[in-house]
Amino acid sequence: MKVVVLLGAPGAGKGTQAPLLAARLGIPVVATGDLFRAAVRDGTALGLEARRYMDAGQLVPDEITIRLLLERLARPDAGDGVILDGFPRTAVQAAALDTALAARDTSVAAAVLVDVPADELIRRMSGRWVCRGAGHPYHEVSSPPRTPGVCDIDGSELYQRADDQPATIRARMDQQLGALGQVIEHYRTSGVLRTVDGLQSIEAVAGAIDAALAEAGVAAAG
Ligand code: ADP
Ligand code: ADP
Repeated sequence: MKVVVLLGAPGAGKGTQAPLLAARLGIPVVATGDLFRAAVRDGTALGLEARRYMDAGQLVPDEITIRLLLERLARPDAGDGVILDGFPRTAVQAAALDTALAARDTSVAAAVLVDVPADELIRRMSGRWVCRGAGHPYHEVSSPPRTPGVCDIDGSELYQRADDQPATIRARMDQQLGALGQVIEHYRTSGVLRTVDGLQSIEAVAGAIDAALAEAGVAAAG
């Protein structure tokens, strides 16, 4: 089982890179933000609980998040591996992932940090539009869709996330960047951290991720 973690602040470009990388590696993306948004849309108990935190720009509590992630990893399509986008986001989540993978005789193959400075994160989130079908991200200035309001990939409608308004963007940066620092340290200590410059074009970031993964011994499906 090949497990690649994509790390980065909110707005760094994880959701843009994850599907591109999934196509290259031949394994699915598991994005906890997308799983939470699906639960909110379906009106499940977990969705109602998670929404309170998401609307406030806070992290959903570890216990709920870890349970959701482990359920997703147990599904058959995750058997060969996954790209994790947005998990782990705390040191407790990182430790829980290590334990779950150790039980399957494996470990995180690489944790790639997409590094972007704070002012650019705000610009990216403020102009972000995502599709209803699968959450594919666009940017009204730097990465517009071919047809306004429509996803290039699956044709679904684009919308702006409720938590991408200025006040919530600020709250997310304030509340989440500290924990991201701990997750970065977790993977630096275990020796699998790789950092790429996220300020480049989408294509250049994808190339840098490939190079980082090759260095870490993670090969594409071919
Ligand atoms: P994350 O999943 O890390 O929160 P996204 O992938 O949703 O980030 O990207 C945030 C915003 O930045 C989106 O509007 C996206 O289109 C845009 N974006 C992503 N990568 C780049 C890039 N390399 N250059 C410019 N804009 C980008
Ligand atoms: P972004 O990459 O722009 O921060 P996500 O879609 O990954 O957005 O996450 C949206 C929200 O979902 C987060 O602000 C947080 O409230 C919640 N969330 C997602 N993943 C996690 C996680 N691993 N732990 C706690 N909360 C999470």
